[in-house]
Amino acid sequence: MGKKVHIIGSGFSSLASACYLAKAGYDVIVFEKNNYLGGRARQFKKEGFIFDMGPTWYWMPDVFEKFFADFGKKPSDYYQLERLSPAYEVYFGKEDSIVIPGDLEGIVDVFEKEEKGSSIHLKHFLKQAKGNYDVAVKDLVYKPGQSPLELVNIETIKRLHHVFGNIRSQVSRRIKNKKLLKILEFPVLFLGAKPQDTPALYSFMNWADFGLGTWHPVGGMYKVVEAMVALARSMNVEFRTNSNVQEITLDSVGKTKGIIVNDEFIASDVVLSGADYHHTETLLPQKYRQYSEKYWDKRVFAPSSLLFYVGFDKKLKNVKHHTLFFDTEFDVHAETIYGPPSWPKEPLFYASYPSITDGSFAPAGKEAATFLIPLAPGVEDTLSIREKYFNIIIRRLEELTQQSVKEFIIFKESFCVNDFVKDYNSYKGNAYGLANTLMQTAFLRPKIKSKKVKNLFFTGQLTVPGPGVPPALISGKIASDLIIKHN
Ligand SMILES: Cc1cc2nc3c(=O)[nH]c(=O)nc-3n(C[C@H](O)[C@H](O)[C@H](O)COP(=O)(O)OP(=O)(O)OC[C@H]3O[C@@H](n4cnc5c(N)ncnc54)[C@H](O)[C@@H]3O)c2cc1C
Repeated sequence: MGKKVHIIGSGFSSLASACYLAKAGYDVIVFEKNNYLGGRARQFKKEGFIFDMGPTWYWMPDVFEKFFADFGKKPSDYYQLERLSPAYEVYFGKEDSIVIPGDLEGIVDVFEKEEKGSSIHLKHFLKQAKGNYDVAVKDLVYKPGQSPLELVNIETIKRLHHVFGNIRSQVSRRIKNKKLLKILEFPVLFLGAKPQDTPALYSFMNWADFGLGTWHPVGGMYKVVEAMVALARSMNVEFRTNSNVQEITLDSVGKTKGIIVNDEFIASDVVLSGADYHHTETLLPQKYRQYSEKYWDKRVFAPSSLLFYVGFDKKLKNVKHHTLFFDTEFDVHAETIYGPPSWPKEPLFYASYPSITDGSFAPAGKEAATFLIPLAPGVEDTLSIREKYFNIIIRRLEELTQQSVKEFIIFKESFCVNDFVKDYNSYKGNAYGLANTLMQTAFLRPKIKSKKVKNLFFTGQLTVPGPGVPPALISGKIASDLIIKHN
């Protein structure tokens, strides 16, 4: 029998770690407090409709390929991927939207049409963005974040101005059209910070967007969860749902002894937590926590969100699988998230209609829709506020896309700050972790290996490399590599 590694939570990072550790011969059990696997990427089904409740954008397909290749597999062994074409649509006003095609040539044409001469600048910018992708995603993001020296090599030295410059100044250097700038700033929103606070090195997200494309796993993002669970099970990983980890117990010298799950002690050799980092530390005695409440309070968190999952009794027109409603000022909205927390007066929002391209998401002639408004973590969350914002975005949707939808709503479910706290033990109800600002990148993020507790490790969106599904897969690999190295 191998050493016993007990993993808290079943999000993507935990699932990735479970696979790597099982392959390395450890005896792995995953404990998940909820009654399903996949963490924030769970799926919800109602009256023939399906909703991915968390991630909906499948970007960086190479990261998924790399993960499965480490086990001699391919994504296509488990799920079918389709490149979305068009990739998405962005609304700026009534009868004013830009459709982003599914191929680079088409995107270049769209830019040129919108602003004469911009296609040359776009190509130049994307060449740099691809260079950053090659340096960052193929190498840097796989570093464990233990030392600044990990980041020093010829390629990063050449790119120092990208580390200290920010995305906003980078994209606005030559392109001036406001709509195009909003589109170029959109990908870094996945990293959870404002474009002016995100290092220009993260322009690799623009390469991910335009160069590598937007993909859709047929049946939804949950197919990826199912694939990873199947892979883990094939290597004898055990999954225990409805298993709330209440405590990490230590011996007299501060080494993990085990975990208390649903009031029962279970002995472990190594504990790895993929639950939110802040929450995991609350499972330890105070003196073994590495980061104070003040530390967490000072971090820049990625937004929380108000989400609605809606079944419509008709097919919607003038929208795409992914549709962004950027008809209001992001900087004003962002102030309510990154300044003193409050509800935005005129929110930007995102809508996903997977049933436009994938018939499995809704019964024939109907549409499944997910709406997302980014919000400050910790903001007041009541049913009446949710309702008010639902009415705001439905009215905007009707105006901008010129159709009535409200009377076609069969049902709607909402999910917001309080649910993130209750369902995932999320710090202040953040939706996708700790933002990737300059001061919260790489070795400046909370550490994968506890400095205070022997054989306690962390993975997921609050440690390296950061928020998002591809980073979660990478985080799981980094954490398991460190466990293997130290055990
Ligand atoms: C609404 C939303 C939209 C998103 N959109 C995208 C997108 O389009 N594309 C993209 O790439 N990324 C997206 N993301 C981000 C991405 O989903 C996350 O970064 C990623 O799924 C996080 O995985 P994780 O492994 O860190 O943990 P999580 O998914 O947070 O999993 C942690 C798990 O730990 C469990 N847990 C907590 N405490 C305990 C305990 N005490 N005992 C047992 N279990 C516990 C929780 O129940 C949870 O299942 C989105 C996230 C959200 C919320």
